[in-house]
Amino acid sequence: MHELSLAQSILDTVLEIAEDRGAERVLKVEIRVGEFTLVNPEQLRFCLEALAEGTPAEGAEFEIELERGRLRCRECGAEWRTDEEESLKDLQDPALHAAFGSDELPSLLDLKCPKCGSKSVEIRDGDSCEVRSIRLELG
Ligand SMILES: [Zn+2]
Repeated sequence: MHELSLAQSILDTVLEIAEDRGAERVLKVEIRVGEFTLVNPEQLRFCLEALAEGTPAEGAEFEIELERGRLRCRECGAEWRTDEEESLKDLQDPALHAAFGSDELPSLLDLKCPKCGSKSVEIRDGDSCEVRSIRLELG
């Protein structure tokens, strides 16, 4: 599962920072995920909480913000953000997950340029995940 491996890498980062700072506990972690990562925020939170058990991050609050994607047309150069209408409907489709990170993704999602109608669309933003802030309890 996509969310599980992402949760593991987030948690590794968080625990490394906590150890560097000599923290006893992780209180809160703010995470931003791009919609084109195809990550389900609720599943990600569930995985984080499960993986954090028995670590200093156990019981921490995981705040996950979904970032809207930004797209660019290869034909006319137009750039736009996804809106409600275009937002991803079927995130559980295995074909989408298989294409993740590849150039095929925009066509699988049936994305079109709002200006010229071209389907030659590339993802500019919203395909990454970052830990934005971590609150620690220092020992
Ligand atoms: Zn265009």
